[in-house]
Amino acid sequence: MKNLVWFRRDLRLKDNTALLHACKDAADGVVAVFYITPAQWTEHNDAPLKVDFWLRNVAALSKSLAKINIPLLVEECNQFSEVPDAVLALAKKHGCGDIFFNREYEVNERRRDESLLQLATEFSVSIHQFHDRVIVPPREIKTKDERPYSVFTPYRKRWDKIAADFGSVQKTPPKQKALNIQPSKVPDSVDGFCFDDLPTELWPASEDEAQRRLEMFAGKIDDYGEARDVPALAGTSGLSPYLAAGVISPRQCLAAAINTDAGAIGGEGGATTWISELTWRDFYAHVMVGFPRVSMDLPFKEKTKKLKWRSSKKDLEAWKTGQTGYPIVDAGMRQLNQTGWMHNRLRMVTAMFLTKNLLIDWREGEKYFMEKLIDGDLAANNGGWQWSASTGTDAVPYFRIFSPFSQSKRFDTEAEFIKQMCPELTEVSPKAIHDLNKLAKALKETGADYPAYIVDYKESRERALAAFKAL
Ligand SMILES: Cc1cc2nc3c(=O)[nH]c(=O)nc-3n(C[C@H](O)[C@H](O)[C@H](O)COP(=O)(O)OP(=O)(O)OC[C@H]3O[C@@H](n4cnc5c(N)ncnc54)[C@H](O)[C@@H]3O)c2cc1C
Repeated sequence: MKNLVWFRRDLRLKDNTALLHACKDAADGVVAVFYITPAQWTEHNDAPLKVDFWLRNVAALSKSLAKINIPLLVEECNQFSEVPDAVLALAKKHGCGDIFFNREYEVNERRRDESLLQLATEFSVSIHQFHDRVIVPPREIKTKDERPYSVFTPYRKRWDKIAADFGSVQKTPPKQKALNIQPSKVPDSVDGFCFDDLPTELWPASEDEAQRRLEMFAGKIDDYGEARDVPALAGTSGLSPYLAAGVISPRQCLAAAINTDAGAIGGEGGATTWISELTWRDFYAHVMVGFPRVSMDLPFKEKTKKLKWRSSKKDLEAWKTGQTGYPIVDAGMRQLNQTGWMHNRLRMVTAMFLTKNLLIDWREGEKYFMEKLIDGDLAANNGGWQWSASTGTDAVPYFRIFSPFSQSKRFDTEAEFIKQMCPELTEVSPKAIHDLNKLAKALKETGADYPAYIVDYKESRERALAAFKAL
């Protein structure tokens, strides 16, 4: 019988555990499938730009698979709940007795897979699932009393000790027996996921492109520790869309970092700092599995459920559109709206501004990011939002509130990035841009068409502190 490999967010040929196992001893050949699930994607707030990126990568994957005689079928089911029946019917149609896939860790995805496991026995089909999305599988790292870690630093210490055991890059599968099955034509778009004027050329599809980016980044990884916080520099890898769609594996990233510095795990240089970001990625997947409430719209810190968030459509809209009157916040939001991606430092600044200075529920921000981000990933996005809102795994107590002005002064000193995103401020000096009162005066003097601040910094900070104290 043939083997069926089901691709999800692991759109690559190289270092793909499920694919490699499907190709082992597959005497009768291998068939592949990818499901388009529009209603589910809408429910998950998946961004049109991300869906477009997925489709372009599915098309690239289909070409690579065809070279090793694996036809990729692209099927459509509206919801995840319809997929288990569909995949089993497909297996039957093509004479496949084994289905291979890499696990996904979100609640809806896990329910879908559990339902497939139950149905598969009736169909006499064997299911083979693998941990492939992260370096160290969730549940692998536990506290002494067998519980999942809820704080990053001790998690990371343990991760550093065992990552190498899980981190080897695997072989690329060899050519398979040729089959008389035509690959599907991959659609260019999916109804309901349209967008205008977004620069898809910033994110070319394909594994080769992801590898090219990794190699380029590896060449400057030593500078990462300094450069990663400066939005005006291309100091980070820009690999997040590729990692989120699985066009590159985190193991390949780890291997590239170690290749530049053999002692990078647990070391001190730029490669170590970058590996620590890959560890955060693993950590948030581990949190989602250990504390599934976080993928059900609930806070990680349960007592913060009672926090009295403000409701203000006007303030939320000003934040979304980059019109708050706080230059660094507006620059970040405009970057998101214009490119579908935002620099990490700005994700923290804009998230903290929404949840602390505007005291608006983190779930509003989480949803908006998901609707826009090309790299939107539930675990990382939820983790980042809850960390910034102090409802999450941040070990520091509730009063971590970034001042947008100290942040912009420190990380965009010459206001280079701010001016790029907010050209209205071209004539305003960096000094004024980094100071609320000076900015108000400079706007009057220069007549710059930039909004007045929508909230007073000191008052809004006090309001946030009071709201958290009241818990
Ligand atoms: C509020 C908020 C929301 C976020 N939403 C997402 C999201 O939806 N998807 C996403 O991939 N990342 C998210 N992040 C994490 C981080 O901002 C992005 O991963 C990073 O900006 C991507 O750029 P890069 O690929 O150049 O990162 P690099 O600095 O080159 O890092 C390498 C990789 O490590 C991972 N990574 C880096 N930082 C983090 C982090 N803090 N948490 C988890 N993984 C990390 C990413 O996969 C990234 O591609 C969010 C952070 C915050 C504060």
